[in-house]
Amino acid sequence: MEKPARIAIFPGSFNPFTTGHRSIVDRARPLFDRIVIGIGINAEKAERGDVTARVEAIKVLYADCPDVEVQAFSTLAADFASQVGARWILRGVRSVKDYEYELAMADVNRRLAGLETVILPALPELGCVSSSLVRELASYGADVSEFIPQRKDSK
Ligand code: ADP
Repeated sequence: MEKPARIAIFPGSFNPFTTGHRSIVDRARPLFDRIVIGIGINAEKAERGDVTARVEAIKVLYADCPDVEVQAFSTLAADFASQVGARWILRGVRSVKDYEYELAMADVNRRLAGLETVILPALPELGCVSSSLVRELASYGADVSEFIPQRKDSK
């Protein structure tokens, strides 16, 4: 009997998608048949940039990776997982603070929908990279290119 495909969602705000996010996707690719990067649309954060543009920018990075998809979603992550047939949620942790949050979310998603969360530790050199840091630096006109993945690096 054929085994069902191992599908994971990687939900987040990705505003913007950073080298830290890319590292989580790239390191998880061998673990799953398919990873669906889900850009969560949060009504309170709706003013922070165009979601369609964010989806397209991430799609370009993974244009050569048929196992990586990108979609926006505005539901609970558990409902998004069910919509795409995913049984796992992929997340990354940079710190104890991240871990405490992820532990609570993992518990909720297991209880709500029987979804297991696979948490990968941040690479030490990327542990300080966050979308909010990139946004703040960019707002002062700083060069943030080292934190934003380029397509040629994405394989
Ligand atoms: P959210 O708003 O849901 O936390 P983010 O876009 O900030 O969404 O992050 C999505 C996921 O990526 C989270 O699990 C977060 O901990 C993880 N992440 C963010 N930056 C890094 C990084 N530099 N290294 C590893 N994981 C990261």
